[in-house]
Amino acid sequence: MPVEQAPSGFQQSVARMVDRALSRIELPDGAGEALKSCASVVQVSFPVRLRDRIEVFTGWRAVHSAHRLPVKGGLRFSPDMDQDHAEALAALMTYKCAVVDVPFGGSKGGLRIDPKQYDEPTLGRITRRFARELIRRGYISPAENVPAPDMGTSQREMAWILDTYKDLHPEDLNHIACVTGKPIELGGIQGRLEATGRGAKYALDAFFNEPDAVHEAGLEGKLSDQRVIIQGLGNVGYHLAQFLQQKDSPRIIGIIERDGALYHEQGLDVADVHDYMQRTGGVEGFPGVEFQRDGAQWLEAECDVLIPAALEGVIHAGNAERIQARLIVEAANGPCTWEADEILRSRGVTILPDIFVNAGGVVVSYFEWLRNIAHVRMGRLQRRHEATRGQHVISAIEMMTNQSAPDWLRDSLTRGTREIDLVRSALDDTMRLAFQEIRETREVESNDERMDYRTAAYLIAIRKVMRARMDLGLI
Ligand code: GLU
Repeated sequence: MPVEQAPSGFQQSVARMVDRALSRIELPDGAGEALKSCASVVQVSFPVRLRDRIEVFTGWRAVHSAHRLPVKGGLRFSPDMDQDHAEALAALMTYKCAVVDVPFGGSKGGLRIDPKQYDEPTLGRITRRFARELIRRGYISPAENVPAPDMGTSQREMAWILDTYKDLHPEDLNHIACVTGKPIELGGIQGRLEATGRGAKYALDAFFNEPDAVHEAGLEGKLSDQRVIIQGLGNVGYHLAQFLQQKDSPRIIGIIERDGALYHEQGLDVADVHDYMQRTGGVEGFPGVEFQRDGAQWLEAECDVLIPAALEGVIHAGNAERIQARLIVEAANGPCTWEADEILRSRGVTILPDIFVNAGGVVVSYFEWLRNIAHVRMGRLQRRHEATRGQHVISAIEMMTNQSAPDWLRDSLTRGTREIDLVRSALDDTMRLAFQEIRETREVESNDERMDYRTAAYLIAIRKVMRARMDLGLI
């Protein structure tokens, strides 16, 4: 299959992927262009007085589509942040929310900064200042635009933003819903921290539960039979790798990090590697395994499943031809460029796309937001009641059978549902349903050639977003 001319930029790359799906839908002239364009973007620059100088910082927040409110998406702190990233990532958020049926529009933002260069109090001042600029312009609010952690940000930054919003809008009853991914003590929800990694694990489970899907990808057996290489042990990659190692574990034969890659055919212990990274700042020198300084080369190493869980654009026209994995699982946002996607598809490599695989974060953000606007922990009202009813059921069974119920049944019926149980099962359910919908769309829409998972996911997302926008008279 000929590969078309390379597009420039991340946003272009996403737009090309959308175009591929758009070419299969009948739409009024210009509707596709309307869908692809970003609704609004704000750039702010602001000075902050540091100990020995004044430094000017620049940040962005893009709203891709506001067909549903609030719009949702992370805030990234990175030296590479720019408007192109904000707009491309905001578009991915729109489609991601639609694929997993989260009723939000898409947004994304970030600050151009290397957070490692600043101490915590300074970073706190910079974050609060950035938040103030966005809040004043209506780019952060519980009803309209709700950020969450992304690369370079965490619960800590969300707490600073929440505090800034509360100062500016003390009258807003829902102020704690102005960010998600915040600390539990400030209204965060259990399970949000690891949600993207957990969602990606559920995505993999859903795939490997379908023998046909596995076979079609040129793989054999279960998830536990696979040899996996993972790129990035940040929040997403680390939690995903941990979940992969919990039970029926596949072998993680390679880990690619910033300072190089580790390889061990017998399998690496993720917790050990992560501990080592915490102590030394990198993977170099990790004992007993092979190390390669040019980590990116290991994306091309022989394995069954490759999981890019770090940066965008790591699989591109320059290396896509040499990727040996049969299955690529996009735990990062945009890890394959459009050209790479074309090359990989033509080589028959299966890709589970980012707008499905890494949606777990925003799914649990949605639960957190719901909990915040309801002002009550999930399950709080019914927990004791459920536990009492469970106890009655156990007593009835024991009375009628003259036998005592097994411990596992007693535990599960009398414990009452905890919030974390609800979060995990609802996330699992969401990922399964999304995968089924993608599979069915592929079935129905494929002609002579089997449709790829990305196009199917985009078709689903575009139809939902278009329907909402048309019903609202937006296009
Ligand atoms: N930053 C995450 C993402 O890219 C989470 C977004 C959210 O929870 O709003 O999906």
